[in-house]
Amino acid sequence: MKLLEGKTAIVTGASRGIGRGIAILFAKHGANVAFTYLSSIEKGQELEQELAAFGIKAKGYRSDAADFKAADDLVNAVVAEFGTVDVLVNNAGITRDTLLMRMSEQQWDEVINANLKSVFNLTKAVQRPMLKQRKGSIINMSSVVGVKGNAGQSNYAASKAGIIGFTKSVALELGSRNIRSNAVAPGFIETEMTAVLDQKVVQSWRDAIPLKRGGTVDDVANACLFLASDMSAYVSGQVLNVCGGMLT
Ligand code: NAP
Repeated sequence: MKLLEGKTAIVTGASRGIGRGIAILFAKHGANVAFTYLSSIEKGQELEQELAAFGIKAKGYRSDAADFKAADDLVNAVVAEFGTVDVLVNNAGITRDTLLMRMSEQQWDEVINANLKSVFNLTKAVQRPMLKQRKGSIINMSSVVGVKGNAGQSNYAASKAGIIGFTKSVALELGSRNIRSNAVAPGFIETEMTAVLDQKVVQSWRDAIPLKRGGTVDDVANACLFLASDMSAYVSGQVLNVCGGMLT
C-alpha cells in the first residue's frame, strides 16, 4: 500500500544520511519530493534521478535552510513547480561538538542557525500554502540529545530541545486548521559517518541500548512516513523517540 500518493513533500538536507533515506521512502510511497542540500551538489543531482525512477515528480534545490529569505524563496519555487506542499520534513542539521569551556561564539551560532532557525524559516514559509489548503504535516528532526542533554554538545542539545518547544507551540497554533506538527527524536543512528568510528566504541554504544543495536536510516524514515501520512491524522504536538528504548 502506498501511503503518500498525491502528496507533495519538502525534505531539507536530503543529499546524505537520514534525509536521503526519508526522500527515498517517501518517493516509494508515491509522494512527489522536493528536497534540499547545501554543499553536496553531485549527490543532490544523483538523488533527483534516483527518486524520479519511482515515477513521481522529484526536484533537488541547493538552498541554505539557515537563510530566512532563501527558505521563503524555496517554498515559493516548490509551490510554483509542484502546486502545493502537504508535508515538510525539517531534517537539515549539523554538529560542532566541543565542551562549553572551548566552545566559540561561532560554533554556537552555526549550530543554532542551521538546526533551529532553519526550522522557523521553513515552517513559517510553508504556513501559507498549508493554511490555504487547510491541511499539512510538519515533521521536525530533533534528537534524544535534545531531550536528555549530552556532554560536549551543549549547542546541539539546545538547538534540538528548542525544536521540541517550537514543534509543540506550532501544533497548538495551527491545529484548528488541520495542520499537524510533530518531532522525531532519533537515538544513535548508524550512517556512513559512524562506520569510520572506532568499532569498539561503537559496540559499547550498541550494548547500552535496550534493543542492542544502533538504529538505521530506515528506522527513522519509517517514523517520518507514519507522521507524514494520514495514518497519523490524530497525532500532533508529539515527540516520537526512535532510539531502541534508550529513552523511556
Ligand atoms: P548528515 O549525514 O550530516 O546530513 C546532513 C544533511 O543536512 C546533508 O544533506 C547536508 O547537506 C544538509 N545540511 C546541513 N546544513 C544545511 C543547511 N544549512 N541547509 C540545507 N541543508 C543542510 O546528517 P544525518 O546524520 O543524516 O542527520 C540528519 C538529521 O538527523 C539532523 O538534523 C541530525 O541532527 C538528526 N539526528 C541524527 C542522528 C544520527 O545518529 N545520525 C541522531 C539524532 C538526530 P550537504 O551534504 O549539502 O552539506
